[in-house]
Amino acid sequence: MKLSNFLVYITSLLWLNLTDAKICYFWHITDLHYDPFHNSPEFHRGCRHNRGNTEHSHRNGRHRDHTCDSSYSLIQSAAAFMAERHPDTLEFVLWTGDILSSSMEHLDGEFKLEAVRNVTDVLSRTFSSQFVFPALGHSDPPPSRRLVDMWMQWLPTEALQTFEKGGYYTIEQSHSKLRIVVLNSVLWAGGQTRTDGATQGKAQWEWLEQVLSTARRKNEMVYLVAHAGPGVEERHNAGSSSSTGGGELTPTANARLLFVVRAFSDVIAGQFYGHRHADTFRLIYSEGRPVSWALLAPSLTPRGAGSISNPGLRLYKFDSKTGKVLDYTQYYLDVTKGEMHWAVEYNLTQYYGLRDVSAASLDALAEKIRHHHDRGIFAKYLSALRVRHSTDISDCDAACTHVHFCAITRADYHEFRSCVRNPASALASRAPHNSAAILLYAILILISS
Ligand SMILES: [Zn+2]
Repeated sequence: MKLSNFLVYITSLLWLNLTDAKICYFWHITDLHYDPFHNSPEFHRGCRHNRGNTEHSHRNGRHRDHTCDSSYSLIQSAAAFMAERHPDTLEFVLWTGDILSSSMEHLDGEFKLEAVRNVTDVLSRTFSSQFVFPALGHSDPPPSRRLVDMWMQWLPTEALQTFEKGGYYTIEQSHSKLRIVVLNSVLWAGGQTRTDGATQGKAQWEWLEQVLSTARRKNEMVYLVAHAGPGVEERHNAGSSSSTGGGELTPTANARLLFVVRAFSDVIAGQFYGHRHADTFRLIYSEGRPVSWALLAPSLTPRGAGSISNPGLRLYKFDSKTGKVLDYTQYYLDVTKGEMHWAVEYNLTQYYGLRDVSAASLDALAEKIRHHHDRGIFAKYLSALRVRHSTDISDCDAACTHVHFCAITRADYHEFRSCVRNPASALASRAPHNSAAILLYAILILISS
């Protein structure tokens, strides 16, 4: 063991003893996109892009096709793997929506609910003594009595009441200071079809601000959980426009969520989203200082949204007393391999050499990703983004790297666009480093005088 590693080890032991941390775990699974027609003999109804291309599907096999959503057996294999990897200290499961394949959009509500029930059954068998906290995505049935009945095994009465109305709820962890706030991002997204959507969307804002105020008063830490979070999809629109369809937050909702996160960054211990079918993160700044992070987990479905990836599952390690996120392990399944074999892809802190999981550490990582000459760290980022589907970064030049950096650090739609248009202004606005330098300078002057 190197001396530096040894010191880190000793410090963390001391830290653990001093703070009496309770190390626990939770899974974050998202975008399962279950396709009941996956194995259907009638021309792969679910694999839309595959129709008529039988040669391709034969070659890759039935579970192993990047153009297909999740089969029942893929979901079962993920569940079996998670059951096997159950730490005794598994506290809960975050399940952030898009349960169903987008190819089921046109099917009737009854059929969709049955498919949701199939997936719910798999999860409740897998996590028989844990709670699963579901968030709704844009491909999911809207909140209803039927969904409430299905998920009442996991949610307390109070949560079920707000869930039935608007698809959002909060969970208070009885033995700790951690509060989980599950939002229905569909209410804030463009192109939603609910007639009472605007009213419900407004109600959710008021509810959220009130929940966060109460949490602050009670000294609780909060996890914000939703299907879609703030920020742009870098691979789709590279700053040309901010998408308002397909479950993305509207520009107004995005701006308001950023405002709320900034206002309550002292209370929010972390944000957990899915939706992008990519492994990435977003940072939120206040007066140039990184104040909050959002970690986006990759999808279970191998079918990409804009690009393709491997199926992923994420296990978080956290201090259940304080809610502080300590690390996560990302697991993946290489769909091009014959067997359904889940493996460790990476550990967040080890992979990127992070001191801890904090806005400051992730901001330093974003800085490294931006530096085009440090291709090593960017290659790691891009490989993770695609869940190791490809480790080739030759298709991403300096401009492309810069777009990734802008997506990570500019969650505001306008700021993202100007960051992409003007790399020089992005450099100039790195206020955290300037103010840190000024502070250091001031301290030096004080010491020397
Ligand atoms: Zn999705």
